[in-house]
Amino acid sequence: MKFHVITLFPDLVASYLSESILARAIKEKKIKVSFYNPRDFVKPTKIQKGKDKPYLRVDDKPYGGGPGMIIQAEPVLKAIEKALSKIKTQKSKLKNKIQKVKVKIIFFSPSGKKFDTEYAKVSAEKYTDIILICGRYEGIDARVKKIFKTEDISIGDYVLTGGEVPAMIVIDSISRQIEGVLGNFDSREEERIASSDVYTRPEVLEFKGKKYKVPKVLLSGNHKAIEEWRGNQKVEIKDQK
Ligand code: SAH
Repeated sequence: MKFHVITLFPDLVASYLSESILARAIKEKKIKVSFYNPRDFVKPTKIQKGKDKPYLRVDDKPYGGGPGMIIQAEPVLKAIEKALSKIKTQKSKLKNKIQKVKVKIIFFSPSGKKFDTEYAKVSAEKYTDIILICGRYEGIDARVKKIFKTEDISIGDYVLTGGEVPAMIVIDSISRQIEGVLGNFDSREEERIASSDVYTRPEVLEFKGKKYKVPKVLLSGNHKAIEEWRGNQKVEIKDQK
């Protein structure tokens, strides 16, 4: 699976991908993440007094008034085109192998369709490339969505300052659905009875003069009883269907 992240702040996302399971998945080529910064697709302004670098402006005031700034369509469109051309060249490199490229373009928006595990699972099976468009400020000029076939996706009913955290969430959640990413594929909660309460050593924890024990059933060796106990604590993963 290849993720193509369109963001003004690639370092934010890259830092999350630089450790632990996702870093290993990238190293082992189970997933690949590329970045495209809309700022790389704008003409620099004249160097202003007191500044040593030209400013690469990507935003402007909203039509119709209101607070905040809007990211202009053109630099985002150019970044999408760049991602698509990269996908195309990868495709031609694979010419001799039969691997059909299937691309999805996600446009992050707090009012989009709600992301969940089922969406992650289906995406992992269905697509070879996912383009993730991260907004900032008051969002991106809506004409981007008219020009490319995108899907509005929300990660929850709250408004964030940008689409980078949503991109990290979507990459993380889809990646763990790809075989070989988790050490043990069966770690995926939906394949087993998982409890949200988990315990490890020591068996009796002492903290500020009090003792806290691990639930007895987990020490019993009775797998049926353990599964039953876990079932009662089960993490609910709702189906989208
Ligand atoms: N006023 C805008 C919100 C801007 S928030 C609106 O009502 O749509 C800035 C950016 O952060 C958005 O463009 C989007 O890319 C991202 N974002 C914020 N909250 C999000 C959420 N819950 N899910 C997905 N993306 C979100």
